[in-house]
Amino acid sequence: MFDYLIVGAGLYGAVFAQEAKRAGKKVLVIDRRDHVGGNVYTEEIEGIQVHRYGAHIFHTNNQEVWSYVNQFATFNRFTNSPVANYHGELYSLPFNMYTFNRMWNVVTPQEAAAKIEEQKKAAGITEPKNLEEQAISLVGTDIYEKLIKGYTEKQWGRPCSELPAFIIKRLPVRLTFDNNYFNALFQGIPVGGYTRMVEHMLDGIEVRLGVDYLKDREAWDAMAEKVVYTGPIDAFYNYCAGTLEYRSVRFETEVLDMPNFQGNAAVNYTDRETPWTRIIEHKWFEFGKDAQGNDLPKTVISREYSSEWKPGDEPYYPVNDEKNGAVYEAYRQMTLAQDKVIFGGRLGEYKYYDMDRVIEAALARARQEFN
Ligand code: UDP
Repeated sequence: MFDYLIVGAGLYGAVFAQEAKRAGKKVLVIDRRDHVGGNVYTEEIEGIQVHRYGAHIFHTNNQEVWSYVNQFATFNRFTNSPVANYHGELYSLPFNMYTFNRMWNVVTPQEAAAKIEEQKKAAGITEPKNLEEQAISLVGTDIYEKLIKGYTEKQWGRPCSELPAFIIKRLPVRLTFDNNYFNALFQGIPVGGYTRMVEHMLDGIEVRLGVDYLKDREAWDAMAEKVVYTGPIDAFYNYCAGTLEYRSVRFETEVLDMPNFQGNAAVNYTDRETPWTRIIEHKWFEFGKDAQGNDLPKTVISREYSSEWKPGDEPYYPVNDEKNGAVYEAYRQMTLAQDKVIFGGRLGEYKYYDMDRVIEAALARARQEFN
């Protein structure tokens, strides 16, 4: 008999498990997959840590979360600076003075600000109601057309005018020559990969892999006082209030016999015509070096293709629009009547979560539970 059964060995589950163990609880962690880490899982190929379920770049403003993760890994100094490729024209991301110079030949911040203002005015948007209006009112129409529209419509499979504005607020706009994608105080990639970091979180905790909680729910429930469920919330309730929509991603990963394919960890293909959204060249997360500091002769790349989730696919991004928000709310109401089950994480809370926020939420929930 366990105090806690934790369903899902991703970040939420691993952090909660670690905290429960620290509080003297007996914990069992289970996962459907044959590995721990959830979507932050990394595996080594040709000496390179490959992010199998998409690139994860850790960044946070929260000192407590940063100290917390540093107990389990050493973080390198990686700074995310993606490049946008629009029909072969290369632009710096996030939107900054390099981007504006390439787009409009402007040189000073004043010229860039005036250009953005002029385009905003021409579009006549006062209160942005959706992603399209939000984007245009942030950076004007040229950048919207070349760097946002195509990428976003491929990524989400919906017109920008039907998407919530908050998605684009992830992207900073700066009138400085600063290619750092994130505004966070702390940023980096765990040396040796995320899998090792999660393994350290789960140190001394019983983990069973390749088992499906929902297939044998009664038996699992009987094993513990309480359950922490981090899988899809609609599946937990047998889809009784409707199916939540997700975007899925298909990765085409290749080992290439060359040292350098694209010279950067992430290149976003922002035109509508290129079928993939971005190409990740994993070695640049670790500067292309092995543990001894030698250059690696090969490289591993992943092309990302975005698609609508259907049963059997991996769910990646929750589609946080109004329709799905209402379905989620119905499930959330049901959870209030459960005192045996805690729901958490990206799938359990149907939330487009950054890693630091997941950790923050798991720590807060654990605190509430154990104090
Ligand atoms: N985005 C864009 N062009 C880009 C990169 C991002 O328009 O080159 C938009 C797009 O709508 C995307 C959102 O910004 O969904 C957030 O992108 P980010 O790369 O932060 O999301 P991730 O997929 O890494 O979570």
